Amino acid sequence: MADFNPSLNEDQLTIQKWVHDFAEDVMRPNAEEWDEREEFPWPVVQEAAQIGLYGWEFLANAMFNDPTGLTMPVAIEEMFWGDAGLGMAIMGSGLAAAGIASSGTQDQVMEWVPQCYGDAKDVQLGAFAASEPDAGSDVGGYRTSAKYDEATDEWILNGTKAWITNGGIADIHVVVAVVAPELKTKGHASFIVPPGTKGLSMGQKYKKHGIRASHTAEVVLDDVRVPGRCLLGGKEKLDERLARVRRGERGNSQAAMQTFEATRPTVGAQAIGVARAAYEYSLDYAKEREAFGRKIIMNQSIAFMLADMATEIEATRLLIWRAAWLGKQKAFVNAEGSMAKLKAGRVATHVTERAIQILGGYGYTRECPVERWHRDAKIHDIFEGTEQIQQLVISRAISGLRIE
Ligand SMILES: Cc1cc2nc3c(=O)[nH]c(=O)nc-3n(C[C@H](O)[C@H](O)[C@H](O)COP(=O)(O)OP(=O)(O)OC[C@H]3O[C@@H](n4cnc5c(N)ncnc54)[C@H](O)[C@@H]3O)c2cc1C
Repeated sequence: MADFNPSLNEDQLTIQKWVHDFAEDVMRPNAEEWDEREEFPWPVVQEAAQIGLYGWEFLANAMFNDPTGLTMPVAIEEMFWGDAGLGMAIMGSGLAAAGIASSGTQDQVMEWVPQCYGDAKDVQLGAFAASEPDAGSDVGGYRTSAKYDEATDEWILNGTKAWITNGGIADIHVVVAVVAPELKTKGHASFIVPPGTKGLSMGQKYKKHGIRASHTAEVVLDDVRVPGRCLLGGKEKLDERLARVRRGERGNSQAAMQTFEATRPTVGAQAIGVARAAYEYSLDYAKEREAFGRKIIMNQSIAFMLADMATEIEATRLLIWRAAWLGKQKAFVNAEGSMAKLKAGRVATHVTERAIQILGGYGYTRECPVERWHRDAKIHDIFEGTEQIQQLVISRAISGLRIE
């Protein structure tokens, strides 16, 4: 196993600059407009597709050609420094791609992942639909059902999914459904719902506090029939897995845990991008703004706030990078991926709030981007596992006990 080295190689520095330039030149100037419109920012995503930033090739290169694990968090931090709502619009299809990659066969990955993105001329979207109105953290509470029709070799999906990024506007929906209710969380399977499938529709579109350029909506599945080949992993593998669980044999929960842990540092990187944006903005402001005849940064209380913000960001980035590196080596010990995500969400929420404080009344207005960054930061305490769910995972990892 290579040592952890938190210095970036030539490729990573090039990617960092490339994403930063896009964030500065395209995302920043568009951010306010799309936040106000609360609509999916097609022109921005199309521009990202034109330079290859939105696309499965970028994702595959960043993930598979990087033994250090640092390329993804580095790229994502820059993107979310640009804007979190637009960033989520660009990254949202990655949730579907990750869902396919983690459960699908090689053929399924090759067939469906490119369709989550399309190409620069015809941009497409993917959505990953797991959460439900009555079951977000409590994945054992999913009710969406998938029943097999042997006569036609089709699966029939029924239920409602809630809070789905790109839900109802995506070309490819990856839907987690219950195939064996008596087995609780072990009785789930994932299905592709291909473009244009009858019975899938968008329910309510949520009006959100932050990341408002990212589309979030319910997905309603009403007798949705998908061909047998849309079951990720295939029927034979599913039947074998269910039989193993019914015999009381241990499933591969360790592997599933490693997968979740491995994606969490990238969510942490999103949060730290937002935090850094707010810190930099408030540092510049504090060096310019005068009160009582001097720059406000000359007051220790303001300077120390900025010192703490910088320290928290630096420390959290190291935690994220180390967790990303551990994920690459498949070497998590104490849920370090969850630790990175937990810390980054809290730091982003705190730092953006402190930035408003430094900006005073201006910081509280919608003329000032820090107000938007504070709203955007909060989502990182909620999605991809809430603050409390990260604490649960970490406490189980450090204690070896099943803490409830
Ligand atoms: C903008 C946005 C985008 C999203 N995108 C997607 C997506 O693309 N796909 C998808 O499937 N989902 C998505 N989600 C759903 C997200 O993952 C859930 O909102 C999240 O998992 C929390 O679930 P919940 O909202 O049902 O809250 P609940 O699970 O009801 O939690 C409510 C509160 O109770 C706490 N809590 C719950 N259980 C415990 C416990 N055992 N111990 C201690 N505290 C507990 C939680 O931490 C939280 O504070 C998205 C959500 C949002 C807001």
